[in-house]
Amino acid sequence: MANGESKPKLTIGWLYARQMSTYGDRGNILTIWKRARWRGISVSVREIDFKEKVDPTRFDLYFFGGGQDQAQKKVSDDLIKYKKEDLKKAARLGSVFFAICGGYQLLGQYYRPFAQPELPGIGLLDVVTVASNQRMIGNIVIETNSMLPKIGGNLMVGFENHSGKTYLGKKANPLGKVLVGSGNNGEDRAEGAFQGNVFGCYLHGPVLPKNPFFADFLIRKALARHYGEVGLDHIDDNLELTAHDAAIERAKTSI
Ligand code: GLN
Repeated sequence: MANGESKPKLTIGWLYARQMSTYGDRGNILTIWKRARWRGISVSVREIDFKEKVDPTRFDLYFFGGGQDQAQKKVSDDLIKYKKEDLKKAARLGSVFFAICGGYQLLGQYYRPFAQPELPGIGLLDVVTVASNQRMIGNIVIETNSMLPKIGGNLMVGFENHSGKTYLGKKANPLGKVLVGSGNNGEDRAEGAFQGNVFGCYLHGPVLPKNPFFADFLIRKALARHYGEVGLDHIDDNLELTAHDAAIERAKTSI
């Protein structure tokens, strides 16, 4: 970190790493790990599996990737039985959550698969999701919510693939406005959601390599739990931003 402190530490809890990591979402863990290591931050990543309890004081950041409906049923049952209360306590203690697609849906109140009973989520986000007969697939570009700090660029780019339609309640803020693609539900032009330190979205890709400013935003927020407001040393993001801009151009030509 810029202030030359002794080697800071970042601890990451990876929820259901094997079952919930569709469309390369594990690349988000690699991105956070690498961008922190490039700054001399020591990083530990621990997979959190079924039937494991969670120590709410242990992790600075939780990552929760996407997964298909059948995986989500098993995960929902496990969340409610083993993890819900401790994960909610972790959020109150300042841990950062970042969830994609199926993981995002299960951070909400519930996900209702097609013609099946609702799968309860842990309620960290005031959102509900219902499966639809419309598959929302393709490149997606959003303009990030101005409530978020000006984090480098204000466009994020990714790839979406979901049938679930997510609707935000009063306590949730959209992560951004859809410029290209469907977003949460293909109706209200909102994409993703955040409340406090909890962030969810439908951007696969993985999303972080091509949106380095958002990766750094999450790292800074996660470090703040132990170190308060920190700066991150500058790194050359020329390659990442070239990929970011190319993906935006490709998305624009896809409409
Ligand atoms: N099963 C959920 C849906 O289709 C989530 C899929 C995913 O995580 N890509 O909406």
